[in-house]
Amino acid sequence: MTRRGWCRTALSPSHLPGLDYSLNPYKGCAHNCVYCYAPPLLHMDRNRWPDVEARINIPQVLRREVKVKKPGIVGLSTVTDPYQPAEKKFELTRKCLPLLLKRGFSANVQTKSDLVLRDRDLLGSSDRVAVGITITTLDEDLSNALEPGAPPPHRRLQAVKALAEAGIYTYVFWGPLLPSLDEESLPAYVEAFASHGAREIMVDMLHVKPGVTAGLSAVLPPDRAALFEQRLRGDYYPRILEAVERACRGRIPLTRAFADRGGP
Ligand code: SF4
Repeated sequence: MTRRGWCRTALSPSHLPGLDYSLNPYKGCAHNCVYCYAPPLLHMDRNRWPDVEARINIPQVLRREVKVKKPGIVGLSTVTDPYQPAEKKFELTRKCLPLLLKRGFSANVQTKSDLVLRDRDLLGSSDRVAVGITITTLDEDLSNALEPGAPPPHRRLQAVKALAEAGIYTYVFWGPLLPSLDEESLPAYVEAFASHGAREIMVDMLHVKPGVTAGLSAVLPPDRAALFEQRLRGDYYPRILEAVERACRGRIPLTRAFADRGGP
């Protein structure tokens, strides 16, 4: 059940690299990923994170702000998913996008949901749009355990393909890269992303924020939870990130993400 809320500000200054503003039409996220960084960042109870608030007046507030704020790059969204299920009904992201684009702002949209395809027309209407599809794993069971409210990985891959075919700059946000991955599996991932039309990969490691370890232990089989814990304590990430770089070299550009990104 999504409740209605109201906001006073639509565009907030962003401290994330590459973004001038963040725009979060929703508070909370029904994708309910076990590793989500947003609840601790916002000092919220993780258990209440899936109780979503839709900021229903955000298009009106944004309409005023775009007339007076300096155009820049807007991240949609930085601490929630702009195409989570509530967007189907409220269409807040859909209403905000044209307001930004008409006033010279750029949009960097990041989502785990193929609902983004609904807005292909809008997203493809400007070369000031980039869309990132977040894919943490191609293992459907693992995704189902860790991202229970999000569309499965195969649908996200199809979304990459459809967006790319629509001429939209599309990248894969491969993060958090889950400690289940072994070096041998990396080339297949890179090939899957590139062959579906991603123009670049942005990779990030799993940052263990409060509540994450307990959440992983609660949803993973004991042997896998133990493997995660062991790898999170060791030198897994420096090694695997170097291996990701090798796998991408000559095939697709790779960038490293930043530590404190909230979502989606
Ligand atoms: S990680 Fe992103 S998609 Fe998952 S619950 Fe957090 S904001 Fe939503």
